[in-house]
Amino acid sequence: MENGVLFQYFEWNLPSDGQLWNQLARDAEHLAATGVTSVWIPPAYKGGGPDDVGYGVYDLYDFGEFDQKGTVRTKYGTRQELEKAIAALHDNGIQVILDTVLDHRMNGDGTERFEAQPVAADNRLDNIGAPRQIESYTEFTFPGRGDTYSDFKWHWHHFSGVDYDNLTGQNEIFRIIGPGKGWSQGVDKENANYDYLMGNDVDVNNPEVADELIKWGDWVINTFGFDGFRMDAAKHIDNVFTRRFLEETRHHADRDLYAVSEYWSEDQGALEGFLSAVDGATDLFDVPLHFNFHEASEKGEDYDMRRLLDNTLTICSQQHAVTFVDNHDSQPGGSLASEVKDWFKPLAYALILLMKEGYPVIFYGDYYSVTHTTEPDEENDSPQTVREASPHRKIIDILLEARRRFAYGEETRLLDHASTVGLVRHGDAEHPGSGLVLLLSNGDDGTKKVCVGPEHAGENWKELTGSICENVIIDSDGYGEFSVKGRNLSVWVKDCDKT
Ligand code: CA
Repeated sequence: MENGVLFQYFEWNLPSDGQLWNQLARDAEHLAATGVTSVWIPPAYKGGGPDDVGYGVYDLYDFGEFDQKGTVRTKYGTRQELEKAIAALHDNGIQVILDTVLDHRMNGDGTERFEAQPVAADNRLDNIGAPRQIESYTEFTFPGRGDTYSDFKWHWHHFSGVDYDNLTGQNEIFRIIGPGKGWSQGVDKENANYDYLMGNDVDVNNPEVADELIKWGDWVINTFGFDGFRMDAAKHIDNVFTRRFLEETRHHADRDLYAVSEYWSEDQGALEGFLSAVDGATDLFDVPLHFNFHEASEKGEDYDMRRLLDNTLTICSQQHAVTFVDNHDSQPGGSLASEVKDWFKPLAYALILLMKEGYPVIFYGDYYSVTHTTEPDEENDSPQTVREASPHRKIIDILLEARRRFAYGEETRLLDHASTVGLVRHGDAEHPGSGLVLLLSNGDDGTKKVCVGPEHAGENWKELTGSICENVIIDSDGYGEFSVKGRNLSVWVKDCDKT
C-alpha cells in the first residue's frame, strides 16, 4: 500500500467508559481523509475487568459479549459496538489490525496444585532451591461463556510458568514441571531465557495449546474480518510458534493478513535474528529508532543528528520496519517508559512520515490526547490524572498532507551535519508536483544547499509548516538554499502558485 499510515488507536490511560469503539466508528471518515490506511486497535477481549487495558488477558473469545469478570463490555465497549467500528473502518477503506496477546493469561477462575521449580528472576535457567508443590490460579473454565465458540478449558499443564504460590503467598517465578515441559527455546536471551513475562505463561509448545490458539486465530479472522495481527510480546513467545500461527491463519483465511510484531529490544542483532527465524512472516516495530529519538530528545543540541538512523531496522531491514515515535508502553508512566520529549516529537514524526523507508505509526496519545499524573500538592493529597489535548495534532496533520501529496520518489539522505540534517524526496511521474526537502535542526537555525534536480531550475519552493515565509528559488543547476529554524523542522515543496 503506497504511503500507508498505521494509527495506534489507544493510549494506556484512556477513560474506562466503554466509548472507544463508538468514537472510532465516528472517526473512520476523518481518519481516511488524513491518509490513515490501517488502524491498530487495543486487545479487544476480556481481561480482568472494565479497567483492563487488555493485556491482562482472561478470555480471548469474549470481545465484550459475556458477563465475565464483573462486566459484559470491555474497557472499550461491547462486541456489537466493535463490529460497527470495524464496519465503519472497512467502509472507509481502512484495515483493522488486532492487538494479539498470546504470551500469557491472567485472572484465572480457580486454583490448582502442581509441581514447580523456583528460578532466579535475572537468570531463568538458574534453579533456586528444590522443586515443590505450589498452588496457583491456572484454571480457566469460563463459567460466563461456557462452551460458546470453544470448549477448551485451561489447566496448569497448558502453562510454562507462574509467578505466585497461593500456599505461601509468595511472589517469585516458578517453572512448571511436567512431562515435556520447560521454557521455550526460540525466545529472547535476556535473563538467560525470557519466555516468562507475566501472569500464567502460555506453553505454546504444548500441542493442545498450539492447536487451540490457531483455531482462535481462524475464528477471530472469520468472525470479525480483521486484516491482520499486532503480535504482542514476541520476544517472550517461541518464534517457531509465531511463524506457524501466522502461516496457518493466512493459509486458512486464504488472503493476505498483515502482521507486525512487538520485539522490545534495542539490539539490532536480536531483531534481525527474530526476522530470520520467522522467515519474514511479520514486520517489526523499529524499537532502536524510537530509542534514537528518545536519546536525541533528551540530549538536545549535544546529540549528533548524523546518528539518527544508526542501528535501526529502517536502515538494516527496511522492508520490515514499522516506524513509530511513542506508544502505550513508552509513554510516561508506562511499563517501558522512554518518552520522546515534546520538543522533538514534530521532528521525529516528520522523519517517519516523509522518508521512503518504513511503515509509520501515529500514536493516539500524540494525535488526540494524553494523560498526565500530577504530583500531590496542597489542594490534592493524592496524585491527580489530567487529560490534555495533544499539542502535536496540527503539525501531524500538515505532515500527513505532505505525505499524501509530496512524499514520493527516490530519496537522498542528508545526514551530513551534527545538528542540521534532512532528506530529499525526488518525486515521481504518477504524482505531478511531488517531491520535497525536509530539514531538521536540534540546535541553531540552519541552512543547507540541496540539489533537488536540474529539472526544477527556476522553480519557487515554499515552506509547508509555516515556520519560514520566504520562498527559495531553485538555481540553474537544480540547487536551492533551504533553511530551518533552531529546534524545529521545515518541509519545502514546489509552490505551484508561483512557478
Ligand atoms: Ca512466554
